[in-house]
Amino acid sequence: MDFHLSEKQKTIRDMCRKFATEVVAPRAEDIERTGEHPYEVVAQMADLGMMGIPFPEKYGGGGGDWVSMHLCIEELSRADTLLGAILDVTTSVVGQELLIFGTEEQKQRWLIPIAQGKELGAFGMTEPDAGSDAAAIKTTAVLKGEDWVINGSKQFITNTGLDNTSIVIITAKTERESDGKTIICTILVPKDAPGFKVGQKYEKMAQRGTATHELFFDDCRVPRDFLLGDINRGFAQHLAVLQTGRISIGALTTGLAQACFDEAIAFIRQGSQGNQSLFTSQRVPFKLADMAMRIELSRTMYLKAAWLKDQGESHTLEAHFAKLYGSETATRIAAEVLKIFSPYGYLDEYPISRYFKQAKLFEIVEGTSEIQRLVIARGLL
Ligand SMILES: Cc1cc2nc3c(=O)[nH]c(=O)nc-3n(C[C@H](O)[C@H](O)[C@H](O)COP(=O)(O)OP(=O)(O)OC[C@H]3O[C@@H](n4cnc5c(N)ncnc54)[C@H](O)[C@@H]3O)c2cc1C
Repeated sequence: MDFHLSEKQKTIRDMCRKFATEVVAPRAEDIERTGEHPYEVVAQMADLGMMGIPFPEKYGGGGGDWVSMHLCIEELSRADTLLGAILDVTTSVVGQELLIFGTEEQKQRWLIPIAQGKELGAFGMTEPDAGSDAAAIKTTAVLKGEDWVINGSKQFITNTGLDNTSIVIITAKTERESDGKTIICTILVPKDAPGFKVGQKYEKMAQRGTATHELFFDDCRVPRDFLLGDINRGFAQHLAVLQTGRISIGALTTGLAQACFDEAIAFIRQGSQGNQSLFTSQRVPFKLADMAMRIELSRTMYLKAAWLKDQGESHTLEAHFAKLYGSETATRIAAEVLKIFSPYGYLDEYPISRYFKQAKLFEIVEGTSEIQRLVIARGLL
């Protein structure tokens, strides 16, 4: 076994760390407070090639691997999880779905600007009655002449309503022409498709700079060739790329847990100049040791899953582990560090309060902790 990163992977990680420290961290509090999408920061990430790291150069990417991509997500999320979340949705999920299942024409039109970071993509699966049970969707797509006519709605869809979002890939029920059977397909809906409407932005308790909206399809029309991949396998396609999304949440939450830990260390060092109680009480050093160990395990889990993916090997279970363990570790560490800061941690002026609120989100998105456990348990039987 070799746990060393390659020189290229280290270069990408260091570049992302520098950018996160110098450009992202000073703006993070402001982005959270105003809830404004950081277009300028995203444009700089695009210039540095961050959105296209794992995609082939011929499609505007950097020709790198998924380990590098996830090191980038961890580093950015250490400064602001919002950027890790944008990369997760745009690159790991939407971009990858286009790369694997798109036609050459779809790749030229949609993947290249996404890989170059000029455009963002969104992933539309959740509906009012279909979240954990993603197959229970009600949105329909019917072929009429040369167009798909889509009716229904999606809720809680990230990266929507932005100037630079180009498409949302949605799941919809349709009837198979050959035998009339109801199946789930995936369709590309450009932001200017007739009949497509973006609803109000959700006012979230944290990560307020990520644009999350409800979407409406009212006789929405897109050309027939905007179907993505195999009409019979739309649901499976969507679930397949979510596997990488889970590794991304593992990397993102590792960055978040590390950020909490960094705050704890800085606070204790500062406190040690005056009040020695945080150091002398055994409670805190023991907690720090546990936190450091859990963060390391979280990191190892997402890197192992990403590495297996790069080798073309099965990584389903490892991706679930990375998501579940990473997100629960971030929540736990954020709560522990908030207590170390007590009572200051409860004040908005301390970053730990932002981290604490952000952490909870990652136990919900891309499959809640309960669903991760269910799937892991099924995989063991
Ligand atoms: C900020 C934000 C951004 C999001 N972005 C996106 C996005 O970009 N695209 C997208 O498609 N979706 C997105 N989502 C939706 C998210 O993925 C879903 O909310 C999540 O999958 C849970 O689905 P649900 O909300 O319908 O909850 P439900 O499925 O109704 O679950 C409610 C509760 O019941 C539990 N539960 C459900 N079924 C079971 C079971 N069988 N056994 C045990 N417990 C169970 C769940 O764990 C949960 O605690 C986003 C959500 C949020 C909050």
